[in-house]
Amino acid sequence: MGDGTVVLVAEDDPVSREIMTHLLERNGYQTVVAANGYEAMEAITPEVDVALVDWMMPGVDGVEVCRRVNEITGGVAYTIMITARAEKSDIVHALDSGADDYMTKPVNHQELMARVRSGERLARRERELARAYAEAQSAAEHDPLTGLMNRRSFDRELSRHLCELREEESLALLMIDIDHFKRVNDHFGHQAGDQVLREIARLIEREVREGTDIVARYGGEELVVIAPQTSSHCALEIARRVRRRIARARVEVEDDLISVTVSIGVAILNGPADDVEEAVRLLIEEADRRLYEAKHAGRNRVAA
Ligand code: GH3
Ligand code: MG
Ligand code: MG
Ligand code: MG
Repeated sequence: MGDGTVVLVAEDDPVSREIMTHLLERNGYQTVVAANGYEAMEAITPEVDVALVDWMMPGVDGVEVCRRVNEITGGVAYTIMITARAEKSDIVHALDSGADDYMTKPVNHQELMARVRSGERLARRERELARAYAEAQSAAEHDPLTGLMNRRSFDRELSRHLCELREEESLALLMIDIDHFKRVNDHFGHQAGDQVLREIARLIEREVREGTDIVARYGGEELVVIAPQTSSHCALEIARRVRRRIARARVEVEDDLISVTVSIGVAILNGPADDVEEAVRLLIEEADRRLYEAKHAGRNRVAA
C-alpha cells in the first residue's frame, strides 16, 4: 500500500497538518499539502487518489474543496472530511456535500491510515474501471488493423457534420480504393497486404488537415475522408495530393518494396440538407459513382 498513491492533505492547523503528512509519508504515500482552502483548490490534480480535507478552513471550506476534488479527478479520488463537529446533522451535511467519508478530531492515527487504505483501494478500482471503459469505447470506435475510425464512427461523424452544415458551407467526401489490392495479397501474402493497408492509412492521414479532416476505414481496402469546410476545388487538391503521395510510396515488407496506387472518387455537398439521412446516402452514392469512374478510366486517378 502507499506505493505511488497520492494523498491531498488540506488542513489549516499546522500541527495536525504536520502529523498527518509525516504519517502518510512514513507509510509510503506521496503527499500534496495545502495550508488553507485556497491552496487546496490550487493544489488538486487529477492524480489525487485520496483527499484528507479539514472542514473548517479560512476562505474556502472543506465542502468546497471536496467538491473540487471530485470535479478534477472525475469522481475517482476518495474524499475524507475531517471535522471537529460531531453532530449527526453535520456529518449528514458533509456526506451529502460529496465527501465519501468523515473522521472527527482528534484523529486516531491507526484509524486514519486504515481509512486511507480503504480509500486507496476504491480509488484504484475507480481508475481501473475508467481505463477499461475508455479502452472499450476506443475499441468500439476504431478499426484494429489501421487504428482509423471504423465504419460506425464514420457514419456518425458524417451525419453530425451534415447536421452542422450551414448556408454557404460545403463538405467533401473522398472515397479511396486501393487498386488491384487482391494482387498484393496474392503476390506477397495477406500479412504484407495488411502492412500496406496500415501504411496507406498513415499516408492519407499525413496529407489531410489534422484535427479537421476525418479519415476512416469504410471497409476492406476502402478508406474515406470527410473534409468539412471544403470547396470542390480544395477537395480535388487534397485527392490529387493523396493519390500522388501513395503512388510514390514504397512499403517495405521484409525483403520486398511494395508499391500500390489508389483510385479516388470525390463528392461535395453544398449547404444544409433538409433530410440528413437522405443527404448522407446520396453523398456516399455520388463518391462511389466517381470512384467507379476513376477505376473504369484506368485506375490511379481522381474523379470528381
Ligand atoms: P480494384 O482495383 O478493382 O479495386 O481491385 P482489387 O483487387 O483491389 O479489388 P477487389 O474488390 O477484387 O479485392 C479487394 C481485395 O482487398 C480483396 C481482399 O482480400 C483485400 N482485402 C480487404 N480487406 C483486407 C485486409 O484487411 N487485409 C488484406 N491483406 N487484404 C484485404
Ligand atoms: Mg481548520
Ligand atoms: Mg474495393
Ligand atoms: Mg481495390
